[in-house]
Amino acid sequence: MDVKDKLIKTRQLNREECRELLDLLLTEEREGEIMSAITREAVRLRKEYYGNKVFTRGLIEFTNFCRNNCNYCGIRRDNRELDRYRMSEEEILACCRQGYRLGFRTFVLQGGEDPWFTPEKIAGLVEQIRNLYPDCAITLSVGEHSREVYKLWKEAGADRYLLRHETANEAHYHFLHPKEMSFSRRISCLYDLKDLGYQVGAGFMVGSPGQTPDHLAEDLVFLQDLHPEMVGIGPFIPHHATAYAGAKAGSLDLCLKLLSVIRILLPDVLLPATTALGTLDPLGREKGLMAGANVVMPNLSPTENRNLYQLYDNKICVGDEASKCQNCMALRVRNAGYEMVSERGDHIS
Ligand code: SAM
Repeated sequence: MDVKDKLIKTRQLNREECRELLDLLLTEEREGEIMSAITREAVRLRKEYYGNKVFTRGLIEFTNFCRNNCNYCGIRRDNRELDRYRMSEEEILACCRQGYRLGFRTFVLQGGEDPWFTPEKIAGLVEQIRNLYPDCAITLSVGEHSREVYKLWKEAGADRYLLRHETANEAHYHFLHPKEMSFSRRISCLYDLKDLGYQVGAGFMVGSPGQTPDHLAEDLVFLQDLHPEMVGIGPFIPHHATAYAGAKAGSLDLCLKLLSVIRILLPDVLLPATTALGTLDPLGREKGLMAGANVVMPNLSPTENRNLYQLYDNKICVGDEASKCQNCMALRVRNAGYEMVSERGDHIS
């Protein structure tokens, strides 16, 4: 059985097979015979599990302060040219209020690792959102914390947690991060979150500096081992105030192929068509949906903050009001042949 058939028939690949598959992804056109079969299967599976539905997440980027210094990231601590902001509790709750009115039933609170937002402050915020919107899912994405802190937030009412593993190869992890950051800590955070009953989102950038096909193969193996409920992948895009200012952006084409492969390996996964896809190509998110993605994440943050949450250059949608983002996204989803729904959009399990 060749690797494409093994992927489609067994939905499981070991490391060597993942590596073989990567060669195929890197050489065959998306329209080629083998790749078309993979995309077709990915779309068939996303329809089998989630029908025509596309779930929306209202993204609230509530702080751009960060204690970390990830080499690739525009909001890294050492970026001194960035104006820093943190939203007040009232502002965050106002975003939820507007989001709820617009039909969002998941709120994603994302930010840098900002020590001003202590575990207790975040727990208080989660509790308020939980009480105000009992029918909504609450997703946190605020980086690495202890198991006790994750437990506190879970008990306060958080349902999901997004923490990309960034790369499953330890040497590559250390290449992308300063020496005080630890690969094993990141991975153990993900297992802690799983163990505590969160719906967990892992993921990585495609085309990050130093990434090789071997690393991507390891990412695919890691995802099969962790079996996260969500996987966020998007192209790496350089930011002018980082050491990778002159690096090449990741390939949209490879991202789309990987979305299809991940859909097959984890058929019931919640897979966003990310903003970074839309930054590389005006139709990137539509293409993501047509490759097997089933989630979109329009921005609910106030427009005055959006420019300041630039993880990479030329990020799209920084000027649009939430309601406009919502309408634009609904149209894009429809154009891709799907329907945007106003539901929590939990993982099927
Ligand atoms: N601090 C939290 C964390 O570490 O998970 C959440 C915020 S962090 C900025 C969100 C994600 O942005 C990262 O996991 C990373 O993959 C992505 N990101 C950062 N810089 C990027 C870049 N230059 N291009 C594409 N994605 C980037």
